[in-house]
Amino acid sequence: MDQYPVLAQTKPGEIKSNLPSNPPESPESFDQIFSDFDQIIMPGITHWNHPRFFGYFSITGSYPGIIGEFLSSALNINAMLWKTSPSATELEEVVLDWLRQMLGLPENFDAVINDTASVGSLCAMAAAREFTNLDIRKKGLSGRNDFPRLRMYTSDQAHSSIEKAAIVLGIGQENIIKISSDETYRMNINELEATLKNDLTHGMKPVCVIATIGTTSTTSIDPVEEIAALCMKYKIWLHVDAAYGGSAAVIPEMRSLFTGWEQADSIIVNPHKWLFTPIDCSVLFCRRPEVLKQAFSLTPEYLRTAEAGEVKNYMDYGVALGRRFRALKLWMVIRSLGTEKIINILREHIAFAQKLAWTIEQHPNFELLAPVPFSTVVFRFVPEKKSRESEINNLNEKLLDEINKAGKVFLSHTKLNGKFGIRLAIGNIKTTWEDVALAWEIIQAKARVWE
Ligand SMILES: *Cc1c(COP(=O)(O)O)cnc(C)c1O
Repeated sequence: MDQYPVLAQTKPGEIKSNLPSNPPESPESFDQIFSDFDQIIMPGITHWNHPRFFGYFSITGSYPGIIGEFLSSALNINAMLWKTSPSATELEEVVLDWLRQMLGLPENFDAVINDTASVGSLCAMAAAREFTNLDIRKKGLSGRNDFPRLRMYTSDQAHSSIEKAAIVLGIGQENIIKISSDETYRMNINELEATLKNDLTHGMKPVCVIATIGTTSTTSIDPVEEIAALCMKYKIWLHVDAAYGGSAAVIPEMRSLFTGWEQADSIIVNPHKWLFTPIDCSVLFCRRPEVLKQAFSLTPEYLRTAEAGEVKNYMDYGVALGRRFRALKLWMVIRSLGTEKIINILREHIAFAQKLAWTIEQHPNFELLAPVPFSTVVFRFVPEKKSRESEINNLNEKLLDEINKAGKVFLSHTKLNGKFGIRLAIGNIKTTWEDVALAWEIIQAKARVWE
């Protein structure tokens, strides 16, 4: 992989211009196809499996995960019903219970694999809507005046998929309330309670609160224990989005960051983010699987099976009927690495991030923009000569561009209270301290021009 730049150095339309616009009439040899794969496709690949991919959230398709994915496409089964491949259903039940134990979640959590966190959160929020007993499944939302405005609450740091799910569920963007976050980007609990009370006074119906453990921008952690207490008090569904951060719960000394999530009604953890499983594999844990099933179960005659009462038919727990055999790769990853090694690798990633954060803090021309609870560091370059925020922002944007253009590392960005921040996320199974140190050297070298 070292032969390739981490970030594809391609111009828009460049790949398309090298591909014929019509399909071939006669068969082509695999030699030809592979040759085009090398020469046309590979240059346009951004290497997410590269140990110096530090953008967004760094991921890895480890060897056991790749073999699992390969076998799953070779078998080409559809895990919609137990009957359509008993192994797929029963392995999914077992491996998700392994994952539950690894994360320290109580036994009353059931689980299902979806493609992405976006879809998992959509399903959880649909279950929350069902939990209101407003008969929305049957009667829908339009043309009714027999119930009040529905509200959902999250922080201004929540992932965009939460708002998108609210759009899809007919809640509407105006009714997904973004509670402000404090100086460390955690949801303001007092504002949440005040907003809930105010909405109730005005006859609205709170449906669910979505808390985040490991936000996408800074990996901040909402005060989940206090949010859970409020949800209990007002009888509202609590959904916890821990798509990235959730994996860190495998580390015993990190568990305290997760206090309260065991009281959630639903939780998202993405093994395809920080658990070495190839994309896609997102797990939705749910403490009320009967409600999730009530929201989604719909069985036409051709899908009716004799053993429906005794087995789990995963099609009942989500939007899609057809389901890939995703449990296989997760099973292979967990077996092949073992929990001890998984814990050690994640621990190391967190240690690298802490070491980098410490190093950045010591530098007179760089500053951290947020605390570093997991393995992601958000920082910026602040040269002495520049003082206007807009100038500093432009400079950091240019700096990030220069860093990425060099092709040795790939970093991404965020914006925090108007400040442009460079994000370095560690999560690849092969990343060593040398990779992180090289990134830091490149960052400093590129910045030196403006010092
Ligand atoms: C990455 C991320 C998501 C979206 O994950 P997908 O699986 O790509 O849909 C949602 N929430 C958080 C907190 C994330 O970090």
